[in-house]
Amino acid sequence: MQEIKDRDVKQEEILKQWIQESSHIVFFGGAGVSTESGIPDFRSQDGLYNQEYAYPPETIISHSFFMRNPEEFYRFYKNKMIFRNAKPNAAHLALAKLEQEGKLKAVITQNIDGLHQMAGSKNVLELHGSIHRNYCMRCGKAYGLEAVADAAGIPRCSCGGIIKPDVVLYEEGLDQQVLSAAVNAIRHADMLIIGGTSLTVYPAAGLVDYYEGNKLVLINKSVTAKEAHADLVITEPIGQVFQRCVLGENCSEDAQTSDRR
Ligand SMILES: [Zn+2]
Repeated sequence: MQEIKDRDVKQEEILKQWIQESSHIVFFGGAGVSTESGIPDFRSQDGLYNQEYAYPPETIISHSFFMRNPEEFYRFYKNKMIFRNAKPNAAHLALAKLEQEGKLKAVITQNIDGLHQMAGSKNVLELHGSIHRNYCMRCGKAYGLEAVADAAGIPRCSCGGIIKPDVVLYEEGLDQQVLSAAVNAIRHADMLIIGGTSLTVYPAAGLVDYYEGNKLVLINKSVTAKEAHADLVITEPIGQVFQRCVLGENCSEDAQTSDRR
């Protein structure tokens, strides 16, 4: 059991109050939102890849590599990017609850796991696509996750074409419609919560500039000095913060019970 720091209890009380006051909350999330659901960030290299794969993740998950070597791409993709048993955590559930209450207008995510929708969120802007959508490169036929996950080797369409995930690979651009919807949502937000990612990394760094309000909240385990211009910074795992501040009864009192799970 870990003791919550005094400072963060105070920060979380402010977060709770701001959520109460706001009616156009927008959430922007990165890989850290899903780590508490057991989905590791494939970019956080721990050396394992070097033993198991001949290329770094950034090379394998690139457009040119997919076209050149789909078999090796899919070996990595199925092992490291598809987690079929992952369930939404407190952060996903809290955001769905806030949307249902009419307080939250959009979730913008860099994650491709579909956990926000699984938690019940409706307006989810997936900047990097989704593992749940897949298309035949030859005829365009749509497939779900099973067609990819259950295939031995390269997943193929009934027409014989290779199925490609609707996931933004390295060397590929973001979907412009999704991006402009994200910009629009942030522009109209009265509160912007950024979680599980760093403010300094693309595309968060560019998107946050569109925010015109004074409730910019950053929730991330590690925070850098550059991020001090956020109006509120909480350096705690995001699922635990949302458990205490949205799902729980009281920020400070629930701090202890949620850690005991
Ligand atoms: Zn086809």
